[in-house]
Amino acid sequence: MKDNTFRVSRDLLRKYDRVGPRYTSYPTVPEWSADFGADEYRRALDLASKGDSPLSLYFHLPFCSKRCFYCGCTTVISSRADRADTYIDVLDKEIEQVASHLGSRNKVAQLHWGGGTPTFLYNRQIERLFGLISDHFQINPDAELAIEVDPRVTTHEQLTLLRQLGFNRVSMGVQDLTPEVQEAIGRNQTAEETEDLINHCRSLKYDGINVDLIYGLPRQTVDNFAQTIAEVIRMGADRVAVYSFAFLPSVKSHQKLIDVQTLPPADTKYELFAMTVEKFLEAGYVQIGMDHFARPDDDLARSLAEGQLYRNFMGYTTRKGSDSIGFGMSSISELAGCFSQNVSKLGEYTEMINKLDLAAFRGCRLSDDDKIRQQVILSLMCNFKLSFDDIEKQFGIDSRKYFSLELGEMKQFIDDGLAAMDKDTITVLPRGRILVRNIAMVFDAYLRNKGKEGSATFSRTI
Ligand code: SF4
Repeated sequence: MKDNTFRVSRDLLRKYDRVGPRYTSYPTVPEWSADFGADEYRRALDLASKGDSPLSLYFHLPFCSKRCFYCGCTTVISSRADRADTYIDVLDKEIEQVASHLGSRNKVAQLHWGGGTPTFLYNRQIERLFGLISDHFQINPDAELAIEVDPRVTTHEQLTLLRQLGFNRVSMGVQDLTPEVQEAIGRNQTAEETEDLINHCRSLKYDGINVDLIYGLPRQTVDNFAQTIAEVIRMGADRVAVYSFAFLPSVKSHQKLIDVQTLPPADTKYELFAMTVEKFLEAGYVQIGMDHFARPDDDLARSLAEGQLYRNFMGYTTRKGSDSIGFGMSSISELAGCFSQNVSKLGEYTEMINKLDLAAFRGCRLSDDDKIRQQVILSLMCNFKLSFDDIEKQFGIDSRKYFSLELGEMKQFIDDGLAAMDKDTITVLPRGRILVRNIAMVFDAYLRNKGKEGSATFSRTI
């Protein structure tokens, strides 16, 4: 019998379909200030040097040889490998600068190379960059080393080298395996290419193989996306992220190459999501947060069961609140109670770092209220639960009193069967998971103070 406990009626979907943040951070990026620059980032690094928990490091490697129409990442389109050499020269200087502020705080529990396409780098470039990182940071033996790979360009030799260097997790962009959809998004990638790479990773004993899919793409139907999901399950991915397509042509002008008429309407988009949940649950995966699925023996699934799941800019993680430092253009750091982001343009980033400065151009220092709300939103988004007791213990506030307005607003979600609340806990019910962003928005003081639903830079919640 089908599990329909997560299905939402069309009326409810219409009621809650609005623009809103994805809450990869709180406060969200539009609330960050340009007053937070290199000096503030430097101070945050100095403050972070006094901490002792191992760090998370993120490296943004922006190069891709061709732009996919749906792309929402910060990329540099190029076919010239020497551009990556120059970029690594700049990263070298940034690593040196940042490490000099962090002093003896150099242990690393999580390293993530994202992009762009990190495997745009040749093997000699991969080795050089890894060497530069290892010269300044000490990677713990049990660290998670993850890299995003594009099956269209990644070679067996690259994966072998990465494994030898210690990488133990790969994330593969797949998005959709249907030829018509691939045509409509400017990304042609056969199922064979993907499967070949997955099999090669297995033979090299990577601990985890993640696959990224996107729902809401042009020409997607419930039937053709169901086939993609069946294929990915058959290929044996350990974790699957199924992101909602954020169509924002006013921000990402290349998305204008997508014919709006071919995008699935909101009702179909929801059906795509509901079918996705159904298929992964049927196949024995555990739903992680809003849009991730993991095999029950995967670390993320275990952490969820223990209420120990967290979220940072690298996605869901089992590692609690370690400071994370971003390197490269557009990268984001979260450390010492601050967010800081590097400039997004390659030329500007290069110029700033070459002047032996840092490249931060915006950020924010979290207030006490921000920290409380960040924890509430994190808890709802990751564990679908909020314990009033936990918040009280952590922040020394009477959480029911502190959030009296918000708890009043939770009534609509409870009446609509999307959440439940008792004297200790708010629980997002399976049916409310697709709308967890709407629930989190209740606790967002910035949205409330501005009296607006969201900003033009946010995508729709469905
Ligand atoms: S490969 Fe990824 S980062 Fe590069 S253009 Fe396509 S979607 Fe964007």
